[in-house]
Amino acid sequence: MTQTILSPIISARNLNHYFGQGALRKQALYDINLDLDFGEIVIMTGPSGSGKTTLLTLLGGLRSAHEGSLKILGQEICGASKQQLTQVRKRIGYIFQANNLMTFLSAKQNVKMSLELHENFLDEKIDAKAIAMLESVGLGNRVDYYPENLSGGQKQRVAIARALVSHPKIVLADEPTAALDKKSGRDVVELMQKLAKEQGCTILLVTHDNRILDVADRIIYMEDGRLV
Ligand code: ADP
Ligand code: MG
Repeated sequence: MTQTILSPIISARNLNHYFGQGALRKQALYDINLDLDFGEIVIMTGPSGSGKTTLLTLLGGLRSAHEGSLKILGQEICGASKQQLTQVRKRIGYIFQANNLMTFLSAKQNVKMSLELHENFLDEKIDAKAIAMLESVGLGNRVDYYPENLSGGQKQRVAIARALVSHPKIVLADEPTAALDKKSGRDVVELMQKLAKEQGCTILLVTHDNRILDVADRIIYMEDGRLV
């Protein structure tokens, strides 16, 4: 398989971002410069309201950048079309604080949904892939359970399986351990670290949790909309 390894995976230059209009317009991000390299795990910390989620959603192509340059997997995002943004998003795995699982779908169906977005996976293979991924996050005996019958840590592990099953080049995680107890939080992060190293994907993880900082290759700090 030939696949070009684009380095850096994400490159932001002089990014500014604003919320609101007219007199209410307020700048949320100031002059952000950041490179994420192939395979590295970067943790972003900083006070509440400092702009971490705003930056994460920009880097994930979930909102469009206002000023500056942002390249995701080689694609310039500033001024990109909706179609180009959609293509980029398919190559990124997202994990949020609330696991955002579909409550009316089983663990396996939640993971499968992510694969069904990719035309290159054949129908027959999707089931087996989803089960294998759930096994690798330690939920092989929970594939047919619905979210309401899973613990917080188990649901977050389903969310990790869903994010990683399509082998994305980038995983963005916004406070993935915030709703978990210490032990489950630690387990979840170590699992992300293991799978990322196996699959060679880059992780950017926002957290307030000082106990997980050691999994990072690099720690960045956000304050008042600036990386310091
Ligand atoms: P963090 O994730 O570090 O807590 P956020 O990125 O959520 O910070 O927020 C950064 C700043 O932008 C805050 O002042 C917040 O109030 C503001 N903000 C975030 N989202 C919006 C929005 N949709 N509309 C207006 N202001 C927002
Ligand atoms: Mg936030």
